[in-house]
Amino acid sequence: MEKLVTTKQELVERVRVAEGSIGLVMTMGALHEGHRRLVDAARAECETVVVSIYVNPLQFAPGEDFDAYPRDLEKDLAMLEDVDIVFAPSDEEMYGRAPLVTINPGDVATRYEGRTRPTHFAGVLQVVAKVLNLVRPDRAYFGQKDAQQLALVTTMVADLDMGVDIVGVPIVRDTDGLALSSRNAYLSTEERTAALALVRALTSARDAAPGGPEAAQAALTESLEAADGVDVDYATIVDAGTFLGVSSNARRGLAIVAARVGATRLIDNMEVSFG
Ligand code: AMP
Repeated sequence: MEKLVTTKQELVERVRVAEGSIGLVMTMGALHEGHRRLVDAARAECETVVVSIYVNPLQFAPGEDFDAYPRDLEKDLAMLEDVDIVFAPSDEEMYGRAPLVTINPGDVATRYEGRTRPTHFAGVLQVVAKVLNLVRPDRAYFGQKDAQQLALVTTMVADLDMGVDIVGVPIVRDTDGLALSSRNAYLSTEERTAALALVRALTSARDAAPGGPEAAQAALTESLEAADGVDVDYATIVDAGTFLGVSSNARRGLAIVAARVGATRLIDNMEVSFG
């Protein structure tokens, strides 16, 4: 059966007759090994695997890279041979008209990524809720690469009783440590080298973390101050669920960083354990 599905109706028809558990992986395409790891996790745990490929306009603000975002459906499909259904709708099919009822992502969405991109998480949760409602998966897989998104999706599913298990999948990195991202395609050779400052800083935070949250923060800040060619948006240690600062008796935290390298905005994070 044709795996590519472009309409919501066909998607719903296909998943309704699917046997066994359903796993969902949502992506914006330009697939790489990071996405593939999510698909592998779904494939290992679910009988039917659905992957969506959709560059969601609602989560881009004017002036962001919506138009430039890499799109290559043929290449993506070649990476999804073992997937049962690939849902790749047009904007018209996905939204029809601008939604009147929207999701308020709440307080977590006002911090960090949400501070720099105030409309971003409302757009993300709108599309995630829609695709979850269409597919009704048993499990949906999200990368820890987008840690704040993972926290918000988990919260939405809990608060709205959406009845799906949200599974977080660890970050996949290149051999030099750079977190894989579709946006890495924008980087020149020099920028790519400069971008390694993010993982370097996160690693120093992790190494300093047994000394406590303040030591981890100091290592993170110091490492980025010494870096060339990166314009830091934020670099801090938070609680992975609330994105608030960690309490003094916390055992673990998440070091998070966002920075511009040339014209490209990159994010990365790493779990840290305190002494
Ligand atoms: P995107 O296509 O960027 O919207 O990403 C789709 C999904 O893949 C999201 O859940 C991301 O967190 C996840 N993802 C992207 N890059 C990575 C990575 N390097 N490692 C793990 N998951 C990733």
